[in-house]
Amino acid sequence: MALNTGRFLKVNLSSGKIETEIVPEQVAVDFVGGRGYGIKYLYDELSPNVEPLSEGNKLLLLSGPLAGTSALASSRWMVCTKSPLTGAFARSVGGADFGAWLKFVGYEFIVIEGRAENPVYLHLTKEGCQIQSAGEIWGQDTKATQRWLTQRYGKSTRIACIGPAGEKLVKYAAIVSGRRTAGRCGTGAVMGSKNLKAIAVTASRSVQLHDRVAFNQLAREQASVVRENKVFLNHKEWGTTRTQNITNEIGIYPALNFRYGQQADYQNITGEEYRKLRTGEFGCYACPARCGKAHRVKAGPYKGAYSEGPEYETIWAFTGTTDTTSREATIAADELCDDLGIDTISTGCTIGFAYELYEKGLLTKADADGLELNYGNHESMVVLVKKIANREGIGDLLAEGVARAAATIGKGAEAYAIHVKGLELPAYEPRGAKTQGFNYATASIGASHCFGYSGQDVFGAIVPRPSDRFAEEENADLVVYNQDNTAWKETGIVCSFASNWGWIPSLFGKMLVAVRGIDELVNDDHLLRVGERILNLERAFNVREGFTREQDTLPQRMLTEPLHTREASGEGQVVRNQDKFLDQYYQIRGWTKEGIPTLEKLKELGLNQVMSDVAVKAKSS
Ligand code: SF4
Repeated sequence: MALNTGRFLKVNLSSGKIETEIVPEQVAVDFVGGRGYGIKYLYDELSPNVEPLSEGNKLLLLSGPLAGTSALASSRWMVCTKSPLTGAFARSVGGADFGAWLKFVGYEFIVIEGRAENPVYLHLTKEGCQIQSAGEIWGQDTKATQRWLTQRYGKSTRIACIGPAGEKLVKYAAIVSGRRTAGRCGTGAVMGSKNLKAIAVTASRSVQLHDRVAFNQLAREQASVVRENKVFLNHKEWGTTRTQNITNEIGIYPALNFRYGQQADYQNITGEEYRKLRTGEFGCYACPARCGKAHRVKAGPYKGAYSEGPEYETIWAFTGTTDTTSREATIAADELCDDLGIDTISTGCTIGFAYELYEKGLLTKADADGLELNYGNHESMVVLVKKIANREGIGDLLAEGVARAAATIGKGAEAYAIHVKGLELPAYEPRGAKTQGFNYATASIGASHCFGYSGQDVFGAIVPRPSDRFAEEENADLVVYNQDNTAWKETGIVCSFASNWGWIPSLFGKMLVAVRGIDELVNDDHLLRVGERILNLERAFNVREGFTREQDTLPQRMLTEPLHTREASGEGQVVRNQDKFLDQYYQIRGWTKEGIPTLEKLKELGLNQVMSDVAVKAKSS
């Protein structure tokens, strides 16, 4: 039986050239798929120091090897590019069923190059790819865009698109499919900069597998393991809508722009309270969890607002940041973010930054277009979401993200800009969950919770060992473990929730072999090595772009200001030993003191092609 390494499509929007290529076997062995293919091709294809919103940047939309199959929770899709927010490697993951459709039409991934002269969209079928005018949908929100394309191409069509925010190059614009987003790092702005409104895929359900009989047997085993798994059953019931109960109780729910680790009156925003507004549930392709819990507002100023969320991060983004506990406002803000196409985490964090500047007098009512940004004011928060997405008034400044906005404002505003490498922090307070915090500091993409989630700190996970969540350099091994494990699972592209449902150790590798026909993929050590290879290549990408140890840092607030936790533990915590942590982390990784992969490490991982790039940087550091 033939190996199944995957095909990819290259579309150059400047020249109109469209090509199809097959992934070579050695690339499939070394990088497997998904995030592995993403960094491999981005590193090889992208010239260094390209301006992220220029014609020279490339945008990769990837499915994983298991996408479109009956494997549970493994049909998510990913975007890799150079981020306009950070200037570093970007990887952002989306849900719904676009990943499956990409596979149905015959591609592992698409590489978008160049820039169209006028707005366009791509239409992919088994017959090929057409570049079409997007004149009629440019300016439309993501709902209207998807409706228009579905009417044109029928119900067997799935779409990934941008909203007005992507068109207006909001630095944290998202790519949206259905109501799920690849939100982080500004991938939607890169798509907008290419004048690309949407990618529509019309296909019937079929995928190529190396060994269908073996695969079907494994998929049945996976379903029976998952069905009984307690973590799965809990996730199916609640999604992430109860995480704020836990993070508030243990004092790591960031409030008032990361001054507090517990929100006052958080009892108003528990999962149980959201449950009262729940109207339905939604999931991704081939996932029985259906963890997207939909909510509708029945009365009051946001009456009629409806979102397929908010999930934990978004609940936080529109409560803890502005010290409001209006569940209705979070639903309205979430709906707007999905419609207009912006990342809820960066949007909420940026609004929280603006509220603190207002409190400190660094932003006035006049600066804020007449809005009062006092804590608790959720009406202004919702207005700001619209202003940011449309770059109206103060929204134009905030659309740049906290790091750039602070630099523009000056007067010490930088002290209140909560980001790592330019990416705004998500909903876990680093001083109370330090393994998670140091993951932010060292993640290739900036402050991402998913990049190496510390289940040890947050949920008391005991694999590979429990953590003391206030320990620092002592937990460097856990940060490495969490990041590498996430990287190889994202070759899948397995949903991060599903990796805790009991099937990964015994079945994931075997499923990869049944799909690809590459025997090495069954070996745990091989997969762990793939994860490490991905991390090192992402690091080499960033080193080539000029990143060093200096950017591996948490915001000043975490290093100098004691955390307040109200009634929870962790009062007074500060990150004391970031330097010691970095020394330890780099040593475990086999990197220099400056955080540059050593030539020995690159050789050991078979990354010989990047050795010369890294050697130049190592010499100059
Ligand atoms: S657990 Fe939720 S996010 Fe993950 S694949 Fe299933 S429905 Fe999608």
